[in-house]
Amino acid sequence: MKKRVLSGMRPTGRLHLGNYLGAAKGMLALQDDPDYETLFTVVDIHATTTPYDAKTLQQSARDVFIDYLSIGLDPEKSAINIQSDLADVITQLSFYVSSVMTVARMQHLPTFKDKVKQHPDNVTMALLNYPLLMAADILIYKASKVPVGIDQEPHLEVAREVARKMNEQFGMDFPEPTRFATKGEYVPSLLGEGKMSKSVEGSSIELNDDLDTIVAKLKKAPTDAGTGAAVPTSGGVANLFQFVELFQGEAKRREYEAAYTGSGVRYGDLKKELAQAIFDELRPIQKKRAELEANPDYVDRIIKEGADRSRVIAEATVAEVREKMGLRK
Ligand code: ADP
Repeated sequence: MKKRVLSGMRPTGRLHLGNYLGAAKGMLALQDDPDYETLFTVVDIHATTTPYDAKTLQQSARDVFIDYLSIGLDPEKSAINIQSDLADVITQLSFYVSSVMTVARMQHLPTFKDKVKQHPDNVTMALLNYPLLMAADILIYKASKVPVGIDQEPHLEVAREVARKMNEQFGMDFPEPTRFATKGEYVPSLLGEGKMSKSVEGSSIELNDDLDTIVAKLKKAPTDAGTGAAVPTSGGVANLFQFVELFQGEAKRREYEAAYTGSGVRYGDLKKELAQAIFDELRPIQKKRAELEANPDYVDRIIKEGADRSRVIAEATVAEVREKMGLRK
């Protein structure tokens, strides 16, 4: 049997280069690998664990779904769904697996502590349960590979622990899922500090940004005098060099690094060339998106088909868990 792959993104805003390089590139690589069966999801239920707007949630979920297709996720090769189409089975499994995890274990997760800091007035049970909902997303398909950014590693550790415990206590056969890493597993913020994120204003380049917007955003990225004894290993300049490597290749990065310790780097030119390279990669995605937006019936059909295909596997797993846990069929 082929190994299964699952990955998902929250519809909390438009996708950015971090989502693209850290997760989507891995999703695409595995979709084209004949050893794997791939399932992808837009995790709208996850979006409800932090403050959100119920009126726009489904438009956002559809936007991310269309982004998936625009990037190259292919409904012929992958089952692509919107999570709440499978809410009955996924939330059910996430409750069942919560019986093998302690409150203390969940409270000590660094990702939970970060969210508590960000939203001190919204420390809900849903937030605490977030990693168990994610474990259910993965385990419901018995997936073993998960293409996500490095920030998700603590959550994958939880999913592995849940799998182990469900296997030990109830005789399930869940694989312990591991992360599939890409070259862009950690895409830095444009602001020089931290990671690129939807929730940090000014930190990201979005997949639908036009060239002028990319130029304007890069212009604000912090730099220095352009020369020094050693190439910086952190901060704005290090981040710019990382973007150069990701979009223009390693050789180009080495050129700039040599210039840094030699004649000096002209950041104006660097940023202009980098903006063009980024836009060149995004342009075909934007074109595909425009085509899909003109064809809403096709998108509706693909959303429905993705849910139906995913449901066959998900229902079988939930039935097995219920039986092994001693619940009624
Ligand atoms: P965000 O952090 O922007 O809210 P999500 O939490 O929905 O995005 O993450 C969706 C996917 O994108 C996950 O696999 C996550 O690891 C990946 N991802 C998000 N930001 C980055 C980043 N800056 N670098 C690499 N991967 C990232």
